[in-house]
Amino acid sequence: MTRTAQRTSTFNESVIREMTRVAHRTGAVNLAQGFPDFPMPAPMKDAACAAIRGDINQYAITWGAPALRIAIAEKYRRWYGMTVDPDTEITVTCGATEAMAATFMALVNPGDEVIILEPFYENYGPDAVLADATPVFVPLIAPNWDLDIERLAAAITPRTRALILNTPHNPTGKVFTRAEIAAVAELAQRHDLLVFTDEIYEHLIYAGHHHSIATWPGMRERTVTISGLSKTFSCTGWRLGYAIAPRELSSAIRKVHDFLTVGAAAPLQAAGAVAMSFDADYYNNLQRAYKQRRDVMMTALANTGFSCIAPDGAYYILADFSAIDKDRNDRDFAVWLAETIGIATVPGSSFYGDQQLGRSSVRFAFCKTFETLGRAAEKLEALRR
Ligand code: GLN
Repeated sequence: MTRTAQRTSTFNESVIREMTRVAHRTGAVNLAQGFPDFPMPAPMKDAACAAIRGDINQYAITWGAPALRIAIAEKYRRWYGMTVDPDTEITVTCGATEAMAATFMALVNPGDEVIILEPFYENYGPDAVLADATPVFVPLIAPNWDLDIERLAAAITPRTRALILNTPHNPTGKVFTRAEIAAVAELAQRHDLLVFTDEIYEHLIYAGHHHSIATWPGMRERTVTISGLSKTFSCTGWRLGYAIAPRELSSAIRKVHDFLTVGAAAPLQAAGAVAMSFDADYYNNLQRAYKQRRDVMMTALANTGFSCIAPDGAYYILADFSAIDKDRNDRDFAVWLAETIGIATVPGSSFYGDQQLGRSSVRFAFCKTFETLGRAAEKLEALRR
């Protein structure tokens, strides 16, 4: 008898997390998993220490400490003009990862189809599997990753329940345009679809603007807006995320969340409330520094024969390596790059349903100090020789 459940045989462990382990084994510079190697804001660290010393060490309210939910609602009012009721419409989770998984389990029925734009952040596939749903992949059009709205429309069937949107986009850095968001909103309303939107990179934009689909007319009631503190406040290890959805959807999400994790770390939620009130300077500085990091990384990659376009948002570059190595597939190339050149990346195929599609690309994360990026650039120099 097989002692493991069938559903676990239909997906693999995260390749992104695996490549972090490869980086540790080989001593390579880790440009694989997307986490910053620089400190998070000091006021948040102080607030977390104060919360622990102040004995905020027991369970917070399951769906989030009131102070954090109020601060999130206030931030959405300020940034997006969105009215959110902190009492009924926000669920604080253990990272955006849990928010998305809980949303799938709360709102998708077994056998439902969920549309995922490809390439995609690898979690969405297993999220669908864990909800016994069927992921349906619709490709974005390379090299600029345009949305083919006809193709998206053609993928919708009577069984389609939801569509996953991720803007700014991991792994391509695409920022969906106003026209694309409007087209998605129109389709969602015409076919009565839910939209789960992963906006974790909302503050990392280098060109264009971030558009939150929940602010479109008719979309608020059918959208779950997912984001978190990890990327904006450089604290991926704190595991603080949230889902914003209308009351009825939120109460289902809250139930799943309650029985999965009970709640996110209470003292860190207290510190999260402090972060939510940072002023525009904080976000401007963050964005400015990230744009410089992007430019440093783009130059290093272009100089060494990778083919890639500059991302408009998020902190990844998906780069084609076929001019450097025609023989290896993406996994072999990524291992070779870690072992021989000393840089860990994520194999492109892990972002595709059809693995062949990512066979000649790897993803570089540039959420690193200029010193780390400089070291990576030096190592890449070896590829020119
Ligand atoms: N989003 C990050 C990435 O794509 C990692 C998230 C995670 O590992 N939980 O690398």
